[in-house]
This record gives sequence, C-alpha cells and structure tokens, in this order.
Amino acid sequence: MSILECFSENDVSSYYSASANKPMAFPSLCGDEAADICVVGAGFTGLSSALHLAEKGYKVIVIEAETLGFGASGRNGGHVGIGQRQDQQYLEDKFGHEVAATLWHMGLEAVDTVKELIQKHLIKCDLKHGNVHFAHRAKYSSELEQEIAFLDSRYGFDQLEYVPKERLSEVIDSDAYHGAMVDRASKHLHPLNFLLGMAAAAVAAGVTIYENSRVTTYEGTPVVVKTSTGQVTASEMILACNGYIETLEPKINGYIMPINNFVLATEPLSDELAAQVAPLDTSMSDSRFVINYWKLSGDNRLIFGGGENYRRGFPSDIKGFVRKYMLQVYPQLANTKIDYGWGGTLAITLNRLPHFGRVEDNIWYMQGYSGHGVPTATFAGKLIAEAITGKLERFDLIANLPTPKFPGGTLLRWPGMVAGMLYYALRDRF
Ligand SMILES: Cc1cc2nc3c(=O)[nH]c(=O)nc-3n(C[C@H](O)[C@H](O)[C@H](O)COP(=O)(O)OP(=O)(O)OC[C@H]3O[C@@H](n4cnc5c(N)ncnc54)[C@H](O)[C@@H]3O)c2cc1C
Repeated sequence: MSILECFSENDVSSYYSASANKPMAFPSLCGDEAADICVVGAGFTGLSSALHLAEKGYKVIVIEAETLGFGASGRNGGHVGIGQRQDQQYLEDKFGHEVAATLWHMGLEAVDTVKELIQKHLIKCDLKHGNVHFAHRAKYSSELEQEIAFLDSRYGFDQLEYVPKERLSEVIDSDAYHGAMVDRASKHLHPLNFLLGMAAAAVAAGVTIYENSRVTTYEGTPVVVKTSTGQVTASEMILACNGYIETLEPKINGYIMPINNFVLATEPLSDELAAQVAPLDTSMSDSRFVINYWKLSGDNRLIFGGGENYRRGFPSDIKGFVRKYMLQVYPQLANTKIDYGWGGTLAITLNRLPHFGRVEDNIWYMQGYSGHGVPTATFAGKLIAEAITGKLERFDLIANLPTPKFPGGTLLRWPGMVAGMLYYALRDRF
C-alpha cells in the first residue's frame, strides 16, 4: 500500500464536500499535450500558481492525481492567519530585522491575496473576519501580551488586543482559558469553496486541468511530465504536492513530514448557542502544541479541529476522536450531534518555515507550510508567478531560509519525530 493510500482515505465525508458550491469535474490526461508550465497538484499552491501564471499570459496545464481539493486544501480549518507559522520574535532573532520584516509584510499580503481573489472572482466561500487566540496556561497569557506589545512597537501593528481572564466572557463561553488575543486582521472561510472558486477563475483565464491523473515520473529539458495514460511537455514544472508528494521527487521529500490532523462539524447550532460559542463570529484557536482550532460555518455549525496522529492511517472514529477535544472547551455541547468527521494530511518542516526552491532551473517546488497554508500556499502562487517572470527576489527570500532535513531521511524520520511530537502533545495534556 502506498503512503498516500495509507494517509488519506478517499471517502472524505467532510462538511466541506457536502456543502461544496458547484461540483466541477475534469477529464484525465490522455495522449500528448504541451504547455509553457505544467503544475502537479490541484490544491491552493497548484491552482493559485496556475491562475497567477495564466493571468500573465502563460499556457498552463494542471495535473491532479485525485480530484480538486482532495488534499489538505479541501479539508482544512479554513483559518486565514496573519504572519508566518513561526512567531515574529523568532524570525527577528534568527534572521535579523530586515528579513523578518519582509516576512511579516508578506504574511499580511498573503491574507490580502486571499481576500482579493475572493473579491475579484466573486467567490462564495463564507469569508468572515478575525481570530481569537486563547492561552491554555496562565504563563501563555503574558506571552500573548508581550507579543502584542512587540508587534505594536516593532511594526506599528495595532490590530491586536489583549483580553485578560476576567473579561474572557466577552469572547467565549468557556472556562478552559486564562487569557486571549483578539486579532482583527486574520480571516476565515470555507476552504473547498475558496478552492473551487480559484479553479473556476483559473479555467476562465485559460488553464487546462486534468483530474484522476497521477504523475508518475518526469524527465528532460523541456520537461516531459508523465502519467500512466499521457504526458505533458512544458518549459517549466511546478511541484505543488505538499504532504502527498510521496516518492515523486526524493530530493525534496526528506525536508517535510506528512502528519494527519482531524476535524468535525456539528449539526447547525441555534442562534443562541452559536452566539455563546463564538460571540464575535471569528475563528478561534489555542496555545496547545497540538492546536485546537474552531469557527462557525456559514450555517452555524461548529467546525472544530483538534488532535492529530503521526502514524499511517486515520482513527476509525474521527468524530469521537475530535469530540473529546471540543468538549474540553465547550462541555455545554455534550448533547450536540456531530454530523461530520474527517481528516487530512499536511506537511510540516522541522523549523516550521515554508520550503520553497528549485530541483533544476526549470523545476520549482513550494511545500511545508506547517499548518499555515491557507494564506501561504495561496500566496506561493503569486510568488512563483513573479519568479517565473524574472522577479526572483521574494521567492528567493523564502527559498533561502534554512530548512533542515528530517534526521533519518524519508524512512527513518518517523521514530524520532513521532517521539518528539508525542512528548510535546503529552506535555500539553498534563
Ligand atoms: C485537517 C487540516 C486542517 C488544517 N487547517 C488549516 C487552517 O485552518 N489554516 C491554514 O492556514 N492551514 C491549515 N492546514 C494546512 C493547509 O490546508 C495546507 O498547508 C494547504 O492546504 C497546502 O496546500 P497545497 O496545495 O500545497 O497542498 P494540498 O492541498 O495537499 O494539495 C496537494 C495535491 O497534490 C496532489 N498530488 C500529490 N502527488 C501527486 C502526483 N504525483 N500527481 C498529481 N497530483 C499529485 C494531491 O492529490 C493533492 O490534491 C490544515 C491542514 C489539514 C490537513
């Protein structure tokens, strides 16, 4: 059985697929095709790249092994967070102010890019605004306060507000937390509908998409990208496979680790209960190592993500697996029915920085968003379009960030990583 089969069960009974706007279907690749650019993978990275490049006049073909949004892009929490996955103080300490500041501004631009795509292409995807981040231990409350003060003094960023324990009832009906940070700049959305809207925009811009067409190998310059039933000859190729890349390109596979994360959707909540659960109707998240993240959907369901595993395969009862985390935050939902439970696979890097670069001059890759891919993978499409048109600075800034390989390579990265991840997850619990 392949890693992909082990990780991501095909029958995703997610709330997102059940509430997808308009089903879109594309043929498989058969025979020989030619393009300027061949994109492998139809998640946010692949489709945003295709759209931005087609808008610059390139002929683009996207090849997807399964169907649109099969990967993490069609299954995630839909949080569109500001900044990078690593906090800003870390980036300043590691890379100095100039690089850190550029990354900060790119992080804000990534959120704006999502918003602009939605506005420009009239994508209906339940876009809402704001996030509240909760401290699950008292010591993390003071860290939130420090972060707010740091971002204000260093970057003049005034979209964050600290909420002390005694005022928490203004932002949540739960005793689980010690303090919070209200962030007015982040956003949240229905990720699969955002993705389908991007796909429709890409097709309108001239992009050709093939589904159910797994790329098995590629070779040569110009590159010939092969599936079992056809091939695309292109000047450039973009690998946009993230946690699902498997063995397609061993040179980049060892820099990421695929992990599974799980989500549930409740039945629609009454207006009264929804207002208790999410008084500001923002997305919400907490400071646990295995982060809990949640929000209300467009039809008032609680979409709650919590729990992950580091082995091959999903838990047999995903609803029950995630529900226990939800009840730690909202015991009042004990009688609320869980309608959907699903999982997905994302790629993390060792230092949680995105991993961009080139395998050859004309073979590009972007991966390893480490749980921050809704904005960053979408933005990656904008950056690759800049890079392929000759403006390499911003792509290269990310490509030049150090990304260590996982110790032990693709086979032996598991035991050490899993032990590490489990240690931190357990430390959170006790
Ligand atoms: C449960 C979960 C919750 C998450 N929540 C959030 C969140 O709230 N906010 C956030 O910012 N991020 C979140 N993430 C992360 C985010 O979803 C990802 O970082 C992002 O979607 C990555 O996009 P991508 O296009 O690079 O990869 P993917 O969406 O995974 O797409 C890769 C695609 O490549 C295809 N592919 C792979 N190999 C081949 C091949 N050989 N031939 C053809 N096609 C191939 C796959 O089938 C897949 O469709 C979450 C992830 C998960 C799993």
